[in-house]
This record gives sequence, structure tokens and C-alpha cells, in this order.
Amino acid sequence: MHDDRALVENRLKRVLDERIRPAVYPASTPLDVAVWHAPGEPVPVAEGLTASPAPIAVGDAWGAPWGTSWFTVTGTVPAEWAGRTVEAILDLGFDENMPGFQCEGLVYRPDGGPVKGLNPRNQWVRIGAPVEGGEEVRLHIEAASNPVILDYHPFLPTKLGDRETAGSEPQYRLARMDLAVFDETVWQLVIDLEVLGELMAELPVDGARRWELLRAVERALDAIDLQDVNGTAAAARAELAGVLATPAAPSAHRISAVGHAHIDSAWLWPLRETVRKVARTASNMTALLEDEPEFVFAMSQAQQWAWIKEHRPEVWARVVKAVNDGRFVPAGGMWVESDTNMPGSEAMARQFVHGKRFFLEEFGVENEEAWLPDTFGFAAGLPQIIKAAGSKRLLTQKISWSQVNKFPHHTFLWEGIDGTRIFTHFPPVDTYNCSMKGGEIAHAARNFKDKGVARHSLAPTGWGDGGGGTTREMVAKAARMRDLEGSAAVVWETPAEFFTRAEAEYPAPPVWVGELYLELHRATLTSQAKTKQGNRRSESLLREAELWAATAAVRTGFAYPHERLDRIWKTVLLHQFHDILPGSSIAWVHREAEKTYAAVAAELNEIIDDAQRALAGNAGSGELVFNAAPHARNGVPAGGAAMAPAPTRGGLRARDEGGYVLDDGLLRVEIDDRGLVVSACDLRAGRETVAPGQAANLLQIHPDFPNMWDAWDVDQFYRNTVTDLVDADEVTPGEEPGSVRVVRSFGRSRVTQVLTVEAGRLDIRTEVDWHETEKFLKLAFPLDVHADRYASESQYGHAFRATHTNTSWEAAKFEACNHKFVHLEEPGWGVALVTDSTYGHDVTRTVRASDRGTTTTLRVSLLRAPRFPDPETDQGLHRFRHALVPGATIGDAVREGWFLNLPERRVPGDAEVAPLVTVDDDAIVVTAVKLADDGSGDVVVRFHESRGGRARARISTGFTATGVAVTDLLERPLAGTAAPEPAGGSVAVSLRPFELVTLRFSRS
Ligand SMILES: [Zn+2]
Repeated sequence: MHDDRALVENRLKRVLDERIRPAVYPASTPLDVAVWHAPGEPVPVAEGLTASPAPIAVGDAWGAPWGTSWFTVTGTVPAEWAGRTVEAILDLGFDENMPGFQCEGLVYRPDGGPVKGLNPRNQWVRIGAPVEGGEEVRLHIEAASNPVILDYHPFLPTKLGDRETAGSEPQYRLARMDLAVFDETVWQLVIDLEVLGELMAELPVDGARRWELLRAVERALDAIDLQDVNGTAAAARAELAGVLATPAAPSAHRISAVGHAHIDSAWLWPLRETVRKVARTASNMTALLEDEPEFVFAMSQAQQWAWIKEHRPEVWARVVKAVNDGRFVPAGGMWVESDTNMPGSEAMARQFVHGKRFFLEEFGVENEEAWLPDTFGFAAGLPQIIKAAGSKRLLTQKISWSQVNKFPHHTFLWEGIDGTRIFTHFPPVDTYNCSMKGGEIAHAARNFKDKGVARHSLAPTGWGDGGGGTTREMVAKAARMRDLEGSAAVVWETPAEFFTRAEAEYPAPPVWVGELYLELHRATLTSQAKTKQGNRRSESLLREAELWAATAAVRTGFAYPHERLDRIWKTVLLHQFHDILPGSSIAWVHREAEKTYAAVAAELNEIIDDAQRALAGNAGSGELVFNAAPHARNGVPAGGAAMAPAPTRGGLRARDEGGYVLDDGLLRVEIDDRGLVVSACDLRAGRETVAPGQAANLLQIHPDFPNMWDAWDVDQFYRNTVTDLVDADEVTPGEEPGSVRVVRSFGRSRVTQVLTVEAGRLDIRTEVDWHETEKFLKLAFPLDVHADRYASESQYGHAFRATHTNTSWEAAKFEACNHKFVHLEEPGWGVALVTDSTYGHDVTRTVRASDRGTTTTLRVSLLRAPRFPDPETDQGLHRFRHALVPGATIGDAVREGWFLNLPERRVPGDAEVAPLVTVDDDAIVVTAVKLADDGSGDVVVRFHESRGGRARARISTGFTATGVAVTDLLERPLAGTAAPEPAGGSVAVSLRPFELVTLRFSRS
């Protein structure tokens, strides 16, 4: 037979595009349209409904950037349409290819009841099926003229990302506002042809099924009268019925489709817009659930649920009903889909505490899966946290975005730093925005790495990022692929139903140990430095506020601020969302975040001050030092307060060769006349830290223009060009005794550093007035250390990475995340670099020709200057603190990291404060001391082994405990876990490496 395949395929495309799809709406009549433009920020629904609109016509421009326009559309259903299905078609001026990234609307009835959301893939509102004719139609649309930030030429700098710079030029033209007859038979024919056409394109050309589909499509096209598509669509469908009815092969891949809209809590829109995005999507999804009995929708991020409840009670009522029906499903159990590299231990835990608690309290639902489809890599502390929250599974597809290495599994056990294993699934469809296209379904089946031992995968299905969700077209396509020869078999299921199947069929999945590193978006560890500092500072202040408020509550009856702490935690958790903390949002988001963090700091400092004053009493003229760190400092116990002298700083003297020497008897640091650290001698060990001939505290600047995703990415070639900033404007003694001040100018920027030595540590305070464009600023420490690997602090422990690049997996980790420290060591001697706010770093090594010693260079990432999506990213003044700790063991690194992040506070008073909780082994780090969230007054203490070894210790309480229980993160007693036996005011504990434990002490 002659091969006419291309002829039929091209015919299908043209007839679908030009004849069949336009026939879905065979008749239409225009609606009358009027509009009222809200003068500023969005107004309450009642105000929008009652405003006085002015006429506007299709074709007219509307919509200043970030504006809100209330459209009123009115009309009458023509009498001759009686008996037909009629829909309103409301096209605000959409570009069909970018749902969620442009204008959007929410349609209301005149009584204020929400109908559904409008987006380019969802422009219809059902008026009647069938109509009687003569019905009066009146609808209101709350339309948001959100500007397009990510355009067809992506990553171009734009001022549209902030209301303050976006101007007032209208962004859209009203495209269509009609009543129209909806021909369901033609619509079904479109779906039939799309499913078969897309499936056909994926099938092997030498297989019979492909040709059977081709011939059936040809017969259907022959059956259509192109002058009367509506009259002949049924006949065309009849030609396709046979090939649509042949069942899937027994070995076909099985896909659990989960209706979804991955909505970024802020990104190319501000937080306030996400409140409305969520309401639009939830309105659409509750409506779709009513129309489609098999459909299931899952929504993550408790924060987004809370927004609906607070801001759109009518939408909330519909959501609650659908949840109770088991079809609108809470997913994930986190407050937001956060970043997981940068959040600190407690913050990562609280993401689950607040997320799971919301779903438990509102619906009695407890999720067992963490749902993070879009997060930029996963720290190896996460499995233990997921388990401690009472969950046991993880879903993400993001690792499929890695630039270099292809992950070997789609379903596997992920083992974290402590040995906890989590059943993990990467949807092989490689997207969280599956739209049920044949190509996507075939890719999932082909791509699935676990074929032969497993058969099930999950496909998050619906428009995401900016919202929209699943469409009726996706549901109709899934129905045809339920059991279709040549296709994977698709059913709608909840995430839990999928995981239960997947676990059952795969009892011994492969294991991946250690972090799930995303080989992309590495610059998110550095971009928007102020957002990152705000996060770190807030985490530290929250620890202090809980500790001192709990201590004061137990000791003095101080009113523990449950409500305030709950609210502040949720604010900080929201800002850990995977486009806020990573620095990849528009300027508006980061401008607001800076203000929010300032307010958070002010309120937490107020709580801390009140609690400390209550503890210190008003008597006496002394000064108490409060130590919130988990280790004793300068004679003050961990979590207590005592009178203590000011720490003594090392002395300053001139250096013979020029420059200065700082020396405290433990560490002698030589700073040359360029302001560089040419020697840092650990006097106890008699050992030099800085590599011979090298200089530390070296600022280095690189050009930094990635191939795409400017705020997100730094590409490896950035290292090809580097400028060492060795020229100093000034190197002088600083204003403070025992300090050296270094000033440098470069480009349009200026750096001032103050260096001091104290307690064997070199402290470096760096102030950068940053006015560069597309540059990367690093602070380098070339160290005389030979080590194959180094440690970076992560949640509840640390993870190791290679210092070399033997494999492509190691080479790809050229920029990585640390929390408070990075540490590297040879047997018997190590060095730590601790930081108060930076996360990005890189470690490289060279071997010196002079002595064959190894120079391991540790560099912390200070600032970048990408121009998309915020064209002014990081311009202005920044302050950083780092400390180099020569001779540091891993335990020293842990301790110094806490000290730098939790500076002591001096408060008038002389009533020394004994700690609420004392641990007699420094390897155990207490990360939280707080009162129980349930208001019982119980004291909750969370701690972990911090060095990667075993720990046995006694935990003593500085109050009378009447009972103790081991709990999960939600402070619920752990079933089957024996509580430690209290004896003499203390309990004995024994911890595995990095093990995390929560104890709950009851008080009489
Ligand atoms: Zn996202």
C-alpha cells in the first residue's frame, strides 16, 4: 500500500484547526459590556459589584499593569436558541499560550456568588443546557490586568514587575464577549480527534495500531461535510468509536492523574494576587468536580487554603463541600511548597507542623506525602523531618530539570543524613503542568525508569505556576485514555491512592542516599540577599522569642504569646516559598518581603525584650548576659542568663612587612597592606591555615550572565573570568580597639571590611555598597587543607560533598548550600567558615607545584546582580558577617555557627536565669524550647545529635516535670515509643547519628 501518512496527518491538522474547532460554537451574539476600573489595589467584591461601570466595546484597550477592572456583561438569550446549550465566551484579550502569566478574571453572579475563573484555556461560562430562550444574562468579572513578565523572548529586563515602576499603559484589548450556542457533539469530536491524532504520532510507524488509527481518522474526515460540520459530526464520531474502544495492553503503563494547579505563592505576581489566583482556580475546580464525576483535584500549601477561607468565604464553602466528598484533596501537608535547601532546621519542621495542623483542624485529614513538585533541590535532612511530622512519602518532578545527569529512578527510597528512608516518586511525565497531551502520556510511559518491576506513575494534571488548574478538555481526554490500545492507561486518583498502589507493587525499590541536588537554579542560594538575611534573622529571633518566652512563662507566669508566635511563624514560613526565599520573584515581592521581615524582627525583639525583662527582674544595677545559643558561652549556660564579663578581643600591632597583626594568644592573623589575610596561624596547633603564597579574605568578582533564568542560574562558565579585588583604598586600624578596617572601590561599588580576632576566631564584617550589573561577588579563603570532602550544615546535621570533580555528578555541584557553617578537615585538624546570612558557596582544590601540598579554596557567595525578573536585584547597601575558625572540629563548627547567629544580649538586672533545659553532652544541640502549641503549658524540647556520631546524655529540666513523652513534630505522643524514665529531675537519652528527638514535659 502507498504511504499516505503525512497526507492524512496534515489533513487532520488543517480540518481540526480551520473547520471543526470553529464549529464548536456555531452561533453567537454579542453581550453588552461595561467596565469600572478600581482606582488602586483590589477592592472587596461587594464594592466591585456595585460600582458604576461605563460602556466599553470589544477591541478597546483596558487594564493598567496590576490594575483591577470590574466588567459587567448583560444580554438576552435569543429565542431561537431554545433547546440548545448556551455558554458565554469571555475573552479578556488572552494569549492562549500563557495561562496564569497574563490577565485573568473571576466571574460572579449579581448576588456575589463566584461562578468560575477565566483564563486563556477556560473562557466559557455555562448559561443553560438546554436554554428556554429569552433568559436575561448578567455576569460580573473581577479582571486582573497582571502584566506579562515572562514573554516569548524570555528573561528580558522589565519595569513591569513592580506597581511602583510599571506605569499605566493599558496591557490588553477586550477580544470577545458573546453568548454562543455550544455544540457538544462537535466538541466531543474535537477531543476524539485530538486523542487519536496525538496517540498516532507517538506510535511506531511499523506497528499496525498506528495505521488502524490513521485509517479511522481518514474515514472520520471523509464523513464530515465541511459546509455542515455540526450536521455531520456524529457520523464522524461513529467512524472513530471502534478504535477508541480497543483496550490497552495488559503491560501498559498506568498513570494516576491528579487534578492539580501548582500555584506559586508569589513569583511574577505579588502575594496579594496569589490570594485571587487561588480563589479563581478553586472556583473552577469545584465547578469541574460537579460536572465530572470521576475527576479528582489535589491542592497543596495550607497557606493557600487559609487565604480562601479568609478572603473568599463563598469559594471556601464550595471547597469544604468538595473536600468532604473526598474529591478536592489536601496535598502535601506543608504551609507552603518551600525551598528545602535554605530553611533552617526548625523552620523546615514548622512547615510541616503548620501545614499538617491546618488540614487536621479543618478537615480531620492527615497527609502522608510531602508534595514539592517544583522545589529547587532537596536537602538530605528532609527525610527525617518528613518522618518526624508523621508522613512517609515525597513527590517531586523537579530533578528532571537537572542540566547534566539523568536521575536513575522514578520510584525509590530516599535516605537522608540520619538513615531515615522515605518512599519517593518522581513523575516520569517530567512536568507538574500535564495537560493530557498524547506526547506527555507517551513520554511518561517511555521515560519511566522502573519498568519491569513497577508500572504506576503519577501525573499532576492542570495549568499551574500562575494557576488555572484542570480543564474539561483534559478530563475528556483522560476518559478516552482510561483503557485505550497503544496508550498508557489513565485514571483519576488522589496522591494517597497512587502512593498506596506504588508501594504495594514495589516492595523493594532502589535506594538513593544523600541530597537530591538540582543541577540548575544554583544562584537561588545568593540572589536577593536581603530576603535571605531576613529569613535567617527571623529564624534566629523566633528561636530566641520561644526560648525566653517559655522560660519566663515557667518561671514568672509571663503570658506566652501563642497567637503572635503562630502568626509570625506563618509569615516566615510563607516567605520560604520556592520563589521568595530563592530570590526569583519580581521586585514587588522582594520589596515587600524586606518590609515584612523588618516588622517581624521588631515584633520578635519586643517579645524577647518583654520576656527577658520579666526574667531579669528590676532589682540591682548589674548587667545580665542572655545566651540563646545551644552551648555555654563565656561562662553563661546555654539557654540561661548570668553576669559575665565582655569577651576579650585580640590585640592589634603593626606588621613588619606592612599591614597589621591581630593576635589573641590562640590565633595570630596577618593582614598585609592590601588588606588581605596572608597568614592565620592556629597557635595551639602551631599550624598555618592559609595556603602558602595565597591570601584569604580575597574578594573576587566574575561576570555572571547565565544562558537563561537570570535570578535562578549561574552557569559554570562564570568561573572562566575572574578579577581579584586586591587594590585597597585604605587599610587602617578600625575605630574599635583591636580591629583593622579595609576599604576597596571597584566598578561603581565600594566595600568596607572590619576584621577582628576573638576566642581563636577571625571575625569579618563586610559592608558592600553594590551597584554592579550581572556580576557575581565571592569572598575566598584558600586553605592549606588536604580533604576529599567537606561538610555543610543542613537541617538537623550536615551533609558532605566532594572537593573534587571526578564524576559528572560531583562536577555539577559547583555551587551548593550551607546553613551556618562549612567545615573541612584533615585527621586531627580542621577549619570552619561560619556565616550569619549567606547560603551559597563553592569549594575547589589545586595541588601546589612548590610543595605538592593541596590548596582547598572555600568561597562564600555574597552578591549577584541579575536583571530578571527584578532589573535592580540587590542594588544598594548590604552587610554580612563571617568568621574563619582555624583548628575547628565539626563540633566547634556547629557551636560557632550558633554563636554568630545568636549574639548574646545584655539586659539590666542581676537575677541569674537558670536554663529550662540542660544537656550534658555538647554533641546534642537543642533547636527549640517552647511551650506546647495546644496551650497546655507543657514544655516542648527538640534536639538532635549534631556531629554525625552517637550521643548519650542526660536532659535535665530546670522546673518540676510531672511527666515526659516522646512526640512527633506536631507534639503528639509517638505510639510505640517508650518515654525515657525520669530520674532526679533528668532523663537519659541515647541518639543515633543526627537523630532528631522531641520531648514533651508536662508540668503540674
Ligand atoms: Zn513553582
